[in-house]
Amino acid sequence: MQDHFKVASQVFDIPSSGKQKKAAIIVAVIIMIISTIALPHGMRSLPEIDPFLSASTAWLIFGDLLTSYIVYSQYRASGLPCLLVLSCTYLYTGLMTTMHIVTFPGLLKNMLQFGPESQTAVWLWAFWHGGFAIGILLYIFTKVRWSKPLETVEQIFNLGTAGIVITLLTVFGMLELAMASGDLLPGIIHNGDYRKLNTSGIGPVIWILNLLALIAMGYRTKGQTVLNLWLTVAVLALLTDITLTLFAGTRFTLGWYLAKVNSAFAATVVIISALSEVNRLFIRLSEQHRQLVESGRQLEQVNEKLTQLTNLDGLTEIPNRRRFDEILAWEMVCPEERLTSLSLLIIDVDCFKSYNDHYGHQGGDQVLKMIAQTIYNGVKGIHGFAARYGGEEFVVVLSDCDAGETRQVAEMIRKAVAGLAIKHEVSIFASHVTISIGGYCLAPKDPMDQQDLIRRADHCLYKAKDAGRNQSVVQGWSRNTTAGIIRSLDRPS
Ligand code: GH3
Ligand code: MG
Ligand code: MG
Repeated sequence: MQDHFKVASQVFDIPSSGKQKKAAIIVAVIIMIISTIALPHGMRSLPEIDPFLSASTAWLIFGDLLTSYIVYSQYRASGLPCLLVLSCTYLYTGLMTTMHIVTFPGLLKNMLQFGPESQTAVWLWAFWHGGFAIGILLYIFTKVRWSKPLETVEQIFNLGTAGIVITLLTVFGMLELAMASGDLLPGIIHNGDYRKLNTSGIGPVIWILNLLALIAMGYRTKGQTVLNLWLTVAVLALLTDITLTLFAGTRFTLGWYLAKVNSAFAATVVIISALSEVNRLFIRLSEQHRQLVESGRQLEQVNEKLTQLTNLDGLTEIPNRRRFDEILAWEMVCPEERLTSLSLLIIDVDCFKSYNDHYGHQGGDQVLKMIAQTIYNGVKGIHGFAARYGGEEFVVVLSDCDAGETRQVAEMIRKAVAGLAIKHEVSIFASHVTISIGGYCLAPKDPMDQQDLIRRADHCLYKAKDAGRNQSVVQGWSRNTTAGIIRSLDRPS
């Protein structure tokens, strides 16, 4: 499980590309330029557009809560505690913005009793912006100090729940504190003018906290990953939001309007980056899936090839001894269930030692290949199984043939090999390469064991050799008679 989260946490470390870094720098520069130009005119009053406030705040709440949700999902998948901190930070700002809008004088005046002199909304603004900076600093701290992912699903769930509960309690505490601001906290707004925010020192403290958050983001993460790159831009946008708000001094001024745009941007940019990350992950995932399917297919092919190789004889390319043992064992495993006869032929090349001596070992190899292919193709049509038994010996397994029919097959093979007319000048029995075949036919349901069957077929082969070679001797079960010897001779003229 630990490895799972280690791997998952690496998935979210998508490095930011050069293009993205450039785009982030351009966006940051645009924010700075617009804000710097607007700053001296920040106090200029603009028409009071109430829907603007509702729209931008709704956007902010939506953006913050969605960011919190997306980052929380990443935390659950990766087990990285720093992502939980970031998710809680956005949950905090989303909820604080909600509280801010609820207490904002005039906006919900018919529902709630907050007069224009209410300090609550401004204090909530202060807690919200100060809290965001602290959240980002905590995120960096956790990222550096607690970089290992959590190990179990339970740990992730428990810490996640604790994080959400702490965030909710903090929001509740801040709301209580801001509500009691009249008694506990100094007044920082007077007649809609909140320049006292600056003079009381609260504004500058919030500003410095956000500046520290921006420096920490830039210094510690250097925008190396997609998330951190755009988070840095979001912190910058929020810092300019605070700067403009502090300079603007009153609501519905140019600075105030621009500040709202900046904070809405700050709430959006991380969602966009997260979505682009998810998209890239999706693309990466489908690519990896494609590769996985492809390597699965290749593995299947390799396995097939490997099975073929382990079952095939390297020289003659027909089944090998190993495969023969397997087939014979399988055929004989349950004699009581074997309703047809089973025949075994053992084939030996005559005078092959002298062939090698005369034509060379490589010449001998070529002959073995030709004989192997002849035997293999000869029995293929009658569903017989042929294999190289070893050296210059081959075997054939047939089913549903009695001794007579088995001999016919043996003869067919023997004649086919003779038909190859491979010259053998030093053979003492023929002028061409010949083979001798010994065979034994086992009656249906006969419980004879494998070794015994081989021994009997071998015995017949010796008989064929003894009788002068180039012939087939088959014994065993016959449909009409009981066991008998059937011999065929094809002596050279
Ligand atoms: P017989 O008629 O009694 O069978 O005489 P033979 O010379 O064939 O005698 P035997 O079966 O004992 O000899 C087998 C020879 O087969 C010995 C060896 O040189 C040759 N041989 C075995 N395996 C190979 C092989 O892979 N390649 C080649 N070229 N020759 C092989
Ligand atoms: Mg031999
Ligand atoms: Mg031989």
